[in-house]
Amino acid sequence: MSSTYSRRDFLKTTSCTAIIAGSSCMAAKLGSLDNNIINGGVTKSVNTYCEMCSSRCQIECKVVDGKVSFIEGNKHSKGMSTSVCARGASGHSQLYDNQRLVKPMIRVGKRGEDKWMVVSYEKAYDFIAEKLKKITDEYGAKATLFSSKTGENFNHIATFANIFGSPNIFSHVSTCPITYDIAFEHTYGGKLKRDFSNAKYILNFGHNLFEGIAVSKTKKLAHAANSEKTKLVVLDPRFSVVASKADEWYPVKPGTDLAFVLSLIHVWLRDGKYDKEFVEKYTIGIEKLIESTKDTTPKWQEQITGIKAEVAERVANEIYKAAPNCIIDWGHKTTTGASEYQKTRAILVANVLMGNLEKAGGLFFGKKAKSVNKIANMDIAPVITNPDGHIKYIQEERIDHATQKGANVFVSRKMGVLMDIPDAILSQKPYPVKAWIMTRTNPLITVANSQKMKKAMEKLDLIVVNDVYMSETAMMADVVLPEATYLERDEGIADVSSMAPAYMMRNKVVDPINKTQTISEILRALAKRLDLDSNYKWQTVTNFRVQQAKGNSELLEKLAKDGYVSFGVPSLLYREKSYVDNFVKKYPSAASNLDSDGLFANMLKFKTPSGKIEIFSEEVEENFPGYGVPAKHDTDVAKGYPYIITSGKTALHTNGHTQNIPFLNMLMSDNPVWVNPLTAKKENIKNGDLIYLENNIGKEKATVFVTEAIRPDTLFVYMGFGRESEELKRANGKGTSQSKLLSLDKGPVCSTMITNIGVKITKA
Ligand code: SF4
Repeated sequence: MSSTYSRRDFLKTTSCTAIIAGSSCMAAKLGSLDNNIINGGVTKSVNTYCEMCSSRCQIECKVVDGKVSFIEGNKHSKGMSTSVCARGASGHSQLYDNQRLVKPMIRVGKRGEDKWMVVSYEKAYDFIAEKLKKITDEYGAKATLFSSKTGENFNHIATFANIFGSPNIFSHVSTCPITYDIAFEHTYGGKLKRDFSNAKYILNFGHNLFEGIAVSKTKKLAHAANSEKTKLVVLDPRFSVVASKADEWYPVKPGTDLAFVLSLIHVWLRDGKYDKEFVEKYTIGIEKLIESTKDTTPKWQEQITGIKAEVAERVANEIYKAAPNCIIDWGHKTTTGASEYQKTRAILVANVLMGNLEKAGGLFFGKKAKSVNKIANMDIAPVITNPDGHIKYIQEERIDHATQKGANVFVSRKMGVLMDIPDAILSQKPYPVKAWIMTRTNPLITVANSQKMKKAMEKLDLIVVNDVYMSETAMMADVVLPEATYLERDEGIADVSSMAPAYMMRNKVVDPINKTQTISEILRALAKRLDLDSNYKWQTVTNFRVQQAKGNSELLEKLAKDGYVSFGVPSLLYREKSYVDNFVKKYPSAASNLDSDGLFANMLKFKTPSGKIEIFSEEVEENFPGYGVPAKHDTDVAKGYPYIITSGKTALHTNGHTQNIPFLNMLMSDNPVWVNPLTAKKENIKNGDLIYLENNIGKEKATVFVTEAIRPDTLFVYMGFGRESEELKRANGKGTSQSKLLSLDKGPVCSTMITNIGVKITKA
């Protein structure tokens, strides 16, 4: 770091020194961790929840001599027990990392030059407030963008943006799960969950829960995969971990999964093998589906996916036999191409045809306190509120035109489209953008065409980055505000209801190193300086929690102690007799809500325009002709290039967030590109060779990893590598960034980032 002060100097002068120095003996202690615990060395144990990735699993942290020394699953949460993933277990490696940011800094050199002045938080806030006032006076509040990954930090920054007067709030969703968010809205009017534990058949489209981990879900899928009673069929261009646990794996051509799903639908409709009663009662649009899939035969799909027609015929019949205890899994963010929306809609509609809604081993709505109280006709679980609920989203035009007629009409004002930011900044259309305030986002690694994003950032007058590390985006900032990690902060209550209501709460495990501040403290300090603070109805996190819990001290005490609370409510599925009977047995007052079949099926409500499950959506058809019902779509993602580069998650890292964390970097520091032996032969390359991956967007260096676990026409890299920040001393310069090869074009209807793209290989 060529800076006025180096961070080593900052650390020397702070109370952090002792803790950082302690981290090496911490590492030494880790080897004998169990002894410490068994011998009673644990002085404190705190139940909270993890933020090493967005799955937010419940955890328990052991504190020895004032330092976090061991993290495991929170036993109070049945789904977790003591399990935790490698990243979750490495939270203290991030907490005590001596490369972590611990003091606010203001840029003193050119943007991106890495020259900084260390300042107090007060000085940093004064600087930001003054700049924001100036920009707002000249260009209006909407000239400032705000962004965060979803979670409580996002809620805080969105609240602030609305108080500030800017409609331009962005979550990470457009680069990740936006497709299923929108496809669910269009189909069921809300999101559903999967009951892996009771499924007899799971058809999985690259939903790699064994690497894109969410511990309790991963465990359920692992048990299902291991069970004789469940058949797991996986379609994925590579032999992923989930593929390795499957009964059958089909290396589908990237981007073509849609054709396979449409062929299943064709078979079911052709043979009349679907739940006609369910479809009749709850849905609209089946006749349009019959028309749109009349020639999407198994034979037709074979030409597109490379999967034999008889396999599609057989799988369709096997699923029908298992129905309704079956799941056709839409995944999270799987093989994302331009047909992503149609693929996800087709998958959701395939589930509809199997009538698996609110059935064991099928799909279900989350049972929040409000809904179970309504069914039971009594208060069986406390309902929480949002203390910021009075603050409404600004309805002015956004830079990405979200919700306005056009490409982003279905994108919510909460999500936004990150890929639209560079053009808006560079073109100053629909109006000038001058500032960007962000927490927990690193668009220079996680958003397509990072080259263009960087050029756009260079044009801004103010960039404020709140992060744990000096990320590539932080390097471009005017002000860097270190983030108090999740182990150093208290937060509000989060609803984690599944088949029964449940809450969790983030509890501070240790005091923040060097008094680093939370994003809520940062935003409140800015609100005070900008005379906006009176808009809030709470002052401290404790106050926020009390308002959320409506003063329910019993709930708060339990959450402070256990980190997670459920209420002994039996699991409920509205259309599953044994579940309904159990519920009524426990809460007899619920009997008045039973329908003539002795079920709660009449409690099903679909927040779609028709009030039904929409196999055909008139609203979608009006805005995107040809997309109203699942139908054929162009599935070519190679676009003339010889190979398709795909990407995915590793179990050892989270997107662009964890590559520099000592423990995780030790476990995995690079992401060589997977190349099939036939491809390697054709390109005359071998294991360990350096190559370039190249297309019309960019050119990126990669190291070759030859493996049969990938199709010959496909390449694969794990996400989040290819780091360029010299301050990430462990991760810098290692691996490949796929973002540099991705186009800013979006998938139609859902505006998703397209992560399967054509490339050629050249020798380095
Ligand atoms: S999956 Fe792992 S990293 Fe993610 S929240 Fe759970 S324990 Fe933490």
